[in-house]
Amino acid sequence: MDSLVRSDVRRPEWLWRSGKLVPWQDALVHVNAVGHASVAAVFEGIKAYLSHDGETLLLFRLDEHLKRLYDSARIARLTLPHDQGELREAVLEVLRVNNYRQDVYLRPWAFPAGIIQEQMVPAGVECEVVVDSWQFTSGLGTERGCRAAVSSWARISEAAMPPRVKAFSNYHNGRLAMIEARENGHDWPILLNDRGKVSEGPGACLALVRDGVVATPSLTSGILDSLTRDTSIRLLTELGYPVQEREVDRSELYLADEIFFMGTGWEILPVTTVDGLRVGDGTAGPITRQLDAAYESVVRGRSSEHPEWLTPVTG
Ligand code: PMP
Repeated sequence: MDSLVRSDVRRPEWLWRSGKLVPWQDALVHVNAVGHASVAAVFEGIKAYLSHDGETLLLFRLDEHLKRLYDSARIARLTLPHDQGELREAVLEVLRVNNYRQDVYLRPWAFPAGIIQEQMVPAGVECEVVVDSWQFTSGLGTERGCRAAVSSWARISEAAMPPRVKAFSNYHNGRLAMIEARENGHDWPILLNDRGKVSEGPGACLALVRDGVVATPSLTSGILDSLTRDTSIRLLTELGYPVQEREVDRSELYLADEIFFMGTGWEILPVTTVDGLRVGDGTAGPITRQLDAAYESVVRGRSSEHPEWLTPVTG
């Protein structure tokens, strides 16, 4: 088993599978269960940050992430055998039993159980749910940036497969765009939607700043219904910046003073060049930096502003 695991895989001691804790190395499936069943799988990405005093793990927007998992399952026509309250407990249990003392990324996911030979996985098949987790290193508060490029791949549309939820299959779209961006010497792609308007990156939403006004593609632009986007809109508004949710043109990217990605995994990631054009002075802009600081302050519980977004892991 160990010889099959890549050395860079970060793994917990325990994961939660279908109602009970299982040692990580024992959570196996038959190889024939991997293919078609995966096409229908849905997942979530959730973070638990260590509080600013180093004492407690704080899950960020846990209930909203779990709600989105059920929304994804509904659209994928999967019925999960556990209710949201049970999964909430599972997430807390996974954090406790693995004794984490650092920032943790959690991946709850649901997939059709057993070996499925039909190419079209039918609706209503029995599902398994797993809660996996691993340690990550946060980029919040660090000096960073990425080179982005508009992709020749269009974002999947509502007419093909809904981008607003997290289905594993959707990620083939972002993956192809990422490979293209890397081959052309950039870090990440920005995908345009089927109407030729800006949508998002392969793992994060996008916003730009021009003359002190923030603009981000609307929820009907072919984007995931992102919780970091929602958080950013709230925090930027509280910081006093006008935020527009609307269609965004490609050429607005070229005139922006600042551009940043936002997502649970990527956090607030400044874009320093777009299609080779420097954005602002080529480093994170002032509004991006303010948002990054406000976000870190909230997720680590330093700010007392949004206690409703935090679930402390106690016990
Ligand atoms: N878009 C895509 C395609 C993503 O995978 C993610 C990461 N979940 C996001 C946007 C950001 O969503 P969230 O802020 O809820 O993590």
